[in-house]
Amino acid sequence: MRSNVIAGNWKMNKTLTEANDFIDEVVKTAPQLEKTEAIVCAPFPFLASLVEKTKGSQVKIGAQNMHFEDSGAFTGEVSPVMLKDLGVTHVVLGHSERREHFAETDESVNKKTHAAFNHGLTPIVCVGETLEQREANETMQHVENQIKKALDGLTDEQVAKTVIAYEPIWAIGTGKTASSKDANEVCSHIRQVVGKVTSEATADKVVIQYGGSVKPANVDELLAESDIDGALVGGASVEADSFLQLVEAGTK
Ligand code: PGA
Repeated sequence: MRSNVIAGNWKMNKTLTEANDFIDEVVKTAPQLEKTEAIVCAPFPFLASLVEKTKGSQVKIGAQNMHFEDSGAFTGEVSPVMLKDLGVTHVVLGHSERREHFAETDESVNKKTHAAFNHGLTPIVCVGETLEQREANETMQHVENQIKKALDGLTDEQVAKTVIAYEPIWAIGTGKTASSKDANEVCSHIRQVVGKVTSEATADKVVIQYGGSVKPANVDELLAESDIDGALVGGASVEADSFLQLVEAGTK
């Protein structure tokens, strides 16, 4: 039985004071997390403080990107070694905003996914189609290609531990959510693809999140679907109240 994974993606928002206030509130009021994982993926400058404040709690802290090399002459970059050393547990890789604005490619996502596992970090690998691709009926093929490239060369055991986030680009930050049925159809396809490149048993273990305008009002319906095991949430994860409601929904 898979657990739900609720991950907040703050993107480039908040100050350190706001980040600390948020996490104090969440750590104080988070429900007992038995069937759910709650992760806050925050900007780099807040990670050390957030990790410190979540010590002894069940809330985990993730980064939103990283380089695939351990160290070196890569001005402005952050390495997996640094994240692991801080106590970060997860890292979002291949978010569509990084693919669009920062030239992230399937190849770099693959290298970063390997680097994450080499350093004991759990990757949250994002895939998803544009509106044009959806309208041209290319969603399944596009997502399949992204998944195969991202997971290339991983062991079955690593694939089983990967969190996959299906995020249709047209639904991110737009208020348009994919219907739970449509979202589930793509998530089921992703699971089948994972099954083909590994084994059915592995595919059965992989957590597949949906992301794109998830909020407390629509999360229950999405999580009720057979192949949706959580959510990657932007806008609705920035306020503690709303993030806590999403986490609560994941524990049902
Ligand atoms: P959103 O963002 O919830 O604001 O649509 C989701 C994401 O980008 O991960």
